[in-house]
Amino acid sequence: MAAVNADTWATELGVLSPTSPRLITTGQRVPAGTSGGVTALGTLAAFAGGLLIGLTALVLGQVEAMWGSGALDGGYLWLVPVGVLAGLAGSTFDSLLGATAQGIYYCPRCQSETEARRHRCGQPTRHLRGWRWLNNDVVNFSNSIVGSLLAGFLGWLIF
Ligand SMILES: [Zn+2]
Repeated sequence: MAAVNADTWATELGVLSPTSPRLITTGQRVPAGTSGGVTALGTLAAFAGGLLIGLTALVLGQVEAMWGSGALDGGYLWLVPVGVLAGLAGSTFDSLLGATAQGIYYCPRCQSETEARRHRCGQPTRHLRGWRWLNNDVVNFSNSIVGSLLAGFLGWLIF
């Protein structure tokens, strides 16, 4: 959950960045909205998106602890950094796929790149690069798998 939330926040808030994004693979400046482009604001948003899920998990853990023993339980504190790290890992993986293998299309009407076969303006797009089967849904699913594996691994390290 931290991974997909972090990626959503990074995508939605990252486009508000005052500076143009850099491609995560080469560092080259790219237009806002380009798949695989990253900004400081987007990364901060990913951090906050993961943090929110980590804090939510902590609060739910405390509710469960209060319900059971009537006392707070510090044993849930690890959920906060794990949420942040899983969020950053998932959204970074999402950007890496967006810059490399994800199917990217071009809208001739808007003259912009998009991840959709039909642009939001209604115009059918043409394939530009990447694997067609690796669409946004598959990328988001992979992102949540990466976040989950990292969170599981961190949990294993901690316990
Ligand atoms: Zn368009």
